[in-house]
Amino acid sequence: MKSDYIKVVKFGGSSLADAGQFEKVIQIIREDETRRYVVPSAPGKRFDGDFKVTDKLYECYHTAKMGGDFRIALAAVRDRYQAIIDGLSLPLDLSEEFRIIEENLTQGTDADYMASRGEYLNGIVLARALGFDFIDAADVLFFEEDGMLDTYKTQKVMGAVLKLHHNAVIPGFYGSLADGRIKTFTRGGSDITGSVVARASEADIYENWTDVSGFLVADPRIVDSPKNIEVITYHELRELSYRGANVLHEDAIFPVRMAGIPINIRNTNRPEDKGTMIIAHADSKAGCGPITGIAGRRGFSVLTIEKDMMNSQVGFGRRVLQVFEHNGISFEHLPSGIDSVGVIVSTEALSPKRDAVINEICRVVEPDSIQLEEGLALVAVVGRGMVNRVGTAARVFRAAADAGVNIRTIDQGSREFNIILSVAESDMERLIRAIYDEFYKEKP
Ligand code: ASP
Repeated sequence: MKSDYIKVVKFGGSSLADAGQFEKVIQIIREDETRRYVVPSAPGKRFDGDFKVTDKLYECYHTAKMGGDFRIALAAVRDRYQAIIDGLSLPLDLSEEFRIIEENLTQGTDADYMASRGEYLNGIVLARALGFDFIDAADVLFFEEDGMLDTYKTQKVMGAVLKLHHNAVIPGFYGSLADGRIKTFTRGGSDITGSVVARASEADIYENWTDVSGFLVADPRIVDSPKNIEVITYHELRELSYRGANVLHEDAIFPVRMAGIPINIRNTNRPEDKGTMIIAHADSKAGCGPITGIAGRRGFSVLTIEKDMMNSQVGFGRRVLQVFEHNGISFEHLPSGIDSVGVIVSTEALSPKRDAVINEICRVVEPDSIQLEEGLALVAVVGRGMVNRVGTAARVFRAAADAGVNIRTIDQGSREFNIILSVAESDMERLIRAIYDEFYKEKP
């Protein structure tokens, strides 16, 4: 039986970019003693035009690999940490750490090792500043040879190690392979580490501190001052993955979702804001409107395949989709009619293989016609509040009609909480604004 309430807190690069930001982070952690496990990113940009430490470390690696002088770039990284250490008046000397990094670089280390040093060093600094224990992620987070997280081993080892530390800092972004080599997640992967630590420590909540107060209902570059989303389910968030802005690494959802641990997105620069709470299930729809969020993305194409009596040919759809599979292209949606099927795919993925795909489809299903239309945008309208609520789709389509937007395809998932529309790319922003206004703008 677990007695302590535990929060795992992850701080992004902008939250730890300099000593001033570190001070905010330290205050946030100190004011709540349940914030026991801390996952830092590497220092991010302090101002426009500044460098992120991770980028500089990749630069060191590439320069060294080309036989160039990596010392200037490495000195810039060292200066960043020294400025933080000096700004916080910490009794800490990273000379030995930098000597080891330089030695490894000279001997030809790999990119993942270099990139991971950003989080590693930031973890050492933050642990010292907080008086928390430091746990090297290489000792507790493990990857399989193919780069996938070794969930079983990580859960077992990390879970046991965390029990030995009341408070600890565990650097984000990396872990180790079976042979001890360092391996990183994809960029932005400290979010995943935070999620993994939350799971292993059986945390009650995973707070992900960044530089925005959570998710917005729509992209602020499209809608003027959109409202904040207070509560969103994991499924809704997945459906909104067409959002441009990347507040949270997509893969960070899975470890905590399995354990039912909520993620709270918070703003280090506005700690008084409640942020967005991401939860497994919303018990009731009470207090939630029909729409949680709207997202859009350009760059899609639809390939429409027509053949008389298609609907009675068993295996037709499978043969069409197999062509996409052979060519390594995943499909987004399949809007279909009785004698036609449309396959919506990313234009970027299709373009280099377009002729091969069309020829192969002609060969395997001998269609009456096949047509390609590029230049589509997908707009996802998502909300758990839509389920069993009469009239939501009508309002979405009325808004589209009033804005003069022609809808090319329509797809409502059978779980009823998403409607995905495709429109001409030039109509996307107008449609998003129209839907937002319909559901969120105060009516006079
Ligand atoms: N520092 C890494 C990056 O810039 C990982 C992270 O910040 O989450 O991608």
